[in-house]
Amino acid sequence: MMNTDKRMPVLFTGHGSPMNAIGNNRARDGWRKTGTVLGKPKVIIAVSSHWATNGRCIRRSDVNPQINDMYNFPQELYQIHYEPAGSVEYADRVLELLDGTASVSNEWGIDHGVWSVLSNMYPDYDVPVVMVSTDMSAGSAAQFETGRKLSALRDEGALILASGNIVHNLRMVSWDMTDGYEWASRFDRTIRDAVVSGDFQTAVQYQTLPDAKKAIPTNEHYYPFLTALGAASGTDKVTVWNEYCELGSMSMTSYLFESAD
Ligand code: ZN
Repeated sequence: MMNTDKRMPVLFTGHGSPMNAIGNNRARDGWRKTGTVLGKPKVIIAVSSHWATNGRCIRRSDVNPQINDMYNFPQELYQIHYEPAGSVEYADRVLELLDGTASVSNEWGIDHGVWSVLSNMYPDYDVPVVMVSTDMSAGSAAQFETGRKLSALRDEGALILASGNIVHNLRMVSWDMTDGYEWASRFDRTIRDAVVSGDFQTAVQYQTLPDAKKAIPTNEHYYPFLTALGAASGTDKVTVWNEYCELGSMSMTSYLFESAD
């Protein structure tokens, strides 16, 4: 169990291929280790790239039906069962903090971008999860601002966990590559160097960076990262983990932000 009286960390995790949820792989090792090291929070506020909506949506329910939003993968993957409870109490708190910029929607549940990570971090699904969508009608600054508003939850026992990918270009995926194309690794490093130095604005203004068009052809997987940055603070201790690219055009690089005090 985490000490939930202290200011809670913020986590961004790359999730990549749904196959990372099973078998032996680096992502999974990192998720298991991170879950063990962090311990269990009271609740997880999960910002998902796979719940991409027009406007910000919050699931407000006691339950989270599992959504297997991936197709043509081995049967083994569909046998994972992961349905943690929801939390109406924390959903209401999220809605309150987002102050009219979000609305309730129970049309989505816990998708593979979230359950692939959490089924390894907290395999007993005993931590309630409040699902938060990615608002595709809003720009980068608004994703960051959403995180900033949610950051009060860090003092209320909640782990803010955003799941996406810094570099995510499905059209350029090369299934037999175990590392990244040069441009993918370069973009990933540029973001890492900025964030580690406390410069979050470079990440928010990613469109001006070289390689941005290839790294982020569509922004649903990147936006959750900006929400995590908004919830973090420039004075937090930053730990970069699962730092690698694979399949050529996918970065798995993940971040943990912890309060310095
Ligand atoms: Zn994904």
